Amino acid sequence: MDTKLFIMISALALIFTLESFIPHYKGRTARMKHAFPHFTVAIINGLLTKFLLTGLTLAALAWAESNALGLSHTLPLTSAAKWILAFVLFDIWMYWWHLANHCLEFLWRFHRAHHSDTEMDTTTALRFHPGELVLSTFFRLPVVILIGMSFSQLLVFETALSVSTLFHHSNLAIPEKWDRMLRTVIVTPNMHRVHHSATGAETNSNYTSLLSVWDRLFRSFRTREDTHTITIGLQSFREDRYQRLWGFMITPLL
Ligand SMILES: [Zn+2]
Ligand SMILES: [Zn+2]
Repeated sequence: MDTKLFIMISALALIFTLESFIPHYKGRTARMKHAFPHFTVAIINGLLTKFLLTGLTLAALAWAESNALGLSHTLPLTSAAKWILAFVLFDIWMYWWHLANHCLEFLWRFHRAHHSDTEMDTTTALRFHPGELVLSTFFRLPVVILIGMSFSQLLVFETALSVSTLFHHSNLAIPEKWDRMLRTVIVTPNMHRVHHSATGAETNSNYTSLLSVWDRLFRSFRTREDTHTITIGLQSFREDRYQRLWGFMITPLL
């Protein structure tokens, strides 16, 4: 098993277990039924990545490197500075990509399949439509080339992003004092619960994936006094059929 997958599965297992003991939203009983379509789509996305998307990314990175394209290859920076530059710029890209997923109708069709979950927990971090995965892989190719990212930089970023995503989707009851402290640096569950609110103004806030600074900088940062009263999900697609695998898969077409 590769390192990224091992870290992801360990974080998922740990958070999933902890959610049973210290849940933010209490009284959830059918957790495995809720998780099943998410696990299935994770396997589909994993296979798609392994057999198609990684090869595409590797080819683009190798082409950029052999032609000395990208900031990392042209700026006279130390290796540490290149890593920081790659991390920061790619995290900003992730912010704008997520925002585009909310603003552009075509992208939203796929992204709303992530938002239609009415009982968000750590497994929601796996609930991304394969269409969104393919689109995000294609659109980020020019970005990784422009930055001049190496494959190991991308892999480390993706591993950190996976752990962050599993954490900020979680149903862990984190004391507000700790959440406030953590969200000065990273996205927290309370921040992302606001993003998964069915209220439009709240859905269109808190786009960042890793560092919370981007939402503050681009004025999309939003908090809420009591996150227990949030209606998680969307106004539509709330029925049981959209929580099952087939309903999730056809959500972009409806
Ligand atoms: Zn979103
Ligand atoms: Zn989310």
